Amino acid sequence: MLAPGIRYNYESWFSNDRAAADATRMRFPSAYASNGEFLAIKRSLQGFQGGELVMNLPPPPQRCPPSPYERACLIAWHFKTHKIKGHITILDHKPAITPIGPGYRAAFDELYKDYITYVPNAHVQEVDPFNKRIRTAAGDQRFDHAILMAPHKAGELAWLAGTVTNGSDGWADVDEVTMQVKGDERTFVIGDAIRAVSPLPFRYYPKSAHVANRLGRIVAYQISERLAGRAPEKRLPDNLCYMVVNGSPGQALNVQFDYDFDAEGRVRQVQRDYNERTPALFRDDFRWADFMFAELFGGIAPPVLPRPAYRA
Ligand SMILES: Cc1cc2nc3c(=O)[nH]c(=O)nc-3n(C[C@H](O)[C@H](O)[C@H](O)COP(=O)(O)OP(=O)(O)OC[C@H]3O[C@@H](n4cnc5c(N)ncnc54)[C@H](O)[C@@H]3O)c2cc1C
Repeated sequence: MLAPGIRYNYESWFSNDRAAADATRMRFPSAYASNGEFLAIKRSLQGFQGGELVMNLPPPPQRCPPSPYERACLIAWHFKTHKIKGHITILDHKPAITPIGPGYRAAFDELYKDYITYVPNAHVQEVDPFNKRIRTAAGDQRFDHAILMAPHKAGELAWLAGTVTNGSDGWADVDEVTMQVKGDERTFVIGDAIRAVSPLPFRYYPKSAHVANRLGRIVAYQISERLAGRAPEKRLPDNLCYMVVNGSPGQALNVQFDYDFDAEGRVRQVQRDYNERTPALFRDDFRWADFMFAELFGGIAPPVLPRPAYRA
């Protein structure tokens, strides 16, 4: 079973210009893959004295869709708390904030009015890391610092293992229910690296740790059933994400996803956005993390995964 995660597709921005790709990766990393970029971002923000900070969201599917907005809120909260004269421009490829659009919009407007500008339809056309400029379909932007996120693709190992095919759009080509690699039923890929699972508009499972965890369990279940000589039933994951939008007081939003099959046997998604930011959701976020860590690393897991009751 492979869970190779994602890699950045800088080629779609820079083609063969390695110098520009390397400069972007080194100076303006996005920290969306598992590596030292998280520390680089932390250090650069700690040293940020003020000015224009640009962040972009690439075309979907992207790892953890709501998290760049969460990141913007937390950086804005840091600016506000430490009286740093910084401003964040979010350049989003999408036409609107999604998921949890109204909740994020309210956070931007009510908590960070002077700190965050959101720009939709900002498809990236050119990135110049040397002169600190980015050109998008929604206009040009200069910056003092940036968090630049190239489009995402399946992690390198998925390519090396031959699981990415012509028809799978840069993601591992797996059966949408069993996660078996097409043409090799003994090999499974789970997590962010997998292809679209449905022809319905949502197409991809959200690329989240919660889904990766659930798919891992589903594959383990299938293997154990087969070893016992039984035919495994079809199981689908769920997804639950908490997004912190305020540090003082701690407040979070929430989005929940459930999956089943429609009459034609396609994977169907029901999404519930929890747009009201509350301290209770902030606390639930830590309970969720405690639950996942306990379950993963063999501690004592709470009996039930905490899930807030959805209110429309
Ligand atoms: C800022 C941010 C916020 C997020 N917030 C949330 C959240 O609130 N909730 C949530 O559920 N998810 C969240 N996510 C998403 C979550 O981190 C990913 O969806 C999850 O890590 C995907 O798991 P994965 O196993 O597919 O990939 P990964 O966790 O990336 O694991 C892949 C692993 O494979 C290793 N690897 C790759 N190639 C090789 C190789 N050749 N040899 C050996 N090892 C290799 C990598 O080093 C890595 O450790 C967030 C992500 C980010 C960046």
